[in-house]
Amino acid sequence: MGTAVSLKVQGFFGALWAYPTVLLFTFSLSRRMANAGNILLLLIISALVYHYIGVAYTVRFFVTLTLTIILANIVLSIIVDLHRRLLDQALVDPLTGVFNRRYMERCLSDAIERLRRNSAPTSLLLIDVDRFKSINDQFGHAKGDSVLKGIVSLIEKRSRKLDLLFRIGGEEFMLLLPDTQEPAAALVAEDLRASTAESLLLEGWQVTLSTGVAELRPGESPDSWMKHADDALYAAKKAGRNRVVCAGQSVPQSDPVLSDAERETWAGPIGSTRAPPWT
Ligand code: GH3
Ligand code: MG
Ligand code: MG
Repeated sequence: MGTAVSLKVQGFFGALWAYPTVLLFTFSLSRRMANAGNILLLLIISALVYHYIGVAYTVRFFVTLTLTIILANIVLSIIVDLHRRLLDQALVDPLTGVFNRRYMERCLSDAIERLRRNSAPTSLLLIDVDRFKSINDQFGHAKGDSVLKGIVSLIEKRSRKLDLLFRIGGEEFMLLLPDTQEPAAALVAEDLRASTAESLLLEGWQVTLSTGVAELRPGESPDSWMKHADDALYAAKKAGRNRVVCAGQSVPQSDPVLSDAERETWAGPIGSTRAPPWT
């Protein structure tokens, strides 16, 4: 309207205000509103301008204003794309493509809020690759990286769409399971443990996982929730690796068949040990 008024007052030169108006619309309104506004502006001002400058110049005005609209949209798309990529880099682990620790903290707080408001349960699995340092030492860092990617793809294949996977340390992952109580989460963890142990992620080596499972308890903070899972993971490591321990389980399952020394041999070269009796 301002442009139309200035056109009336200043003649053709008033129409030049249409160019900054296009930029104003494109960068300050929603995409749909901006496009609708720009098309209306283009049609109305071109029709008004026709009375002052005739067909030939109106065509030029129309074409240049159209190009300005297109270029403004291209610049906006570039900005939106860069913004999205920056967000990705801030929240995603570059090696495996899963979420990073920073995003995990936000998701833990969201889960606490969901429990408080809707009594919706959430469980988390703290997953650590067993003897990963030995994999690196024996097969090289690059093979270690490909094992990490293989584990991620295995976990993603065997979890639900709404579950969230984070890489929270070198060879440590967290799987957040919304609407899941501890017994069901333990089943998921056991499935991941068994399928990893059976997988052929690394030729000549049985890759195994130890997992601590913890369901969010009412009134808990993200730190204490993680601490429960971490304690359970520690118990799983201590009990011999390649196993799942739940935070609700006060004492980790003990295995009367294997001694501590025997357990220490788990996660290692294939053929060096017999099948674990707890699987
Ligand atoms: P445990 O069974 O007790 O968990 O033993 P571990 O060897 O898995 O644990 P430790 O913490 O001793 O070693 C973790 C190793 O992970 C050490 C580090 O060099 C390696 N690591 C950390 N980040 C990466 C990575 O991005 N790529 C590779 N290939 N290795 C990594
Ligand atoms: Mg480890
Ligand atoms: Mg670790």
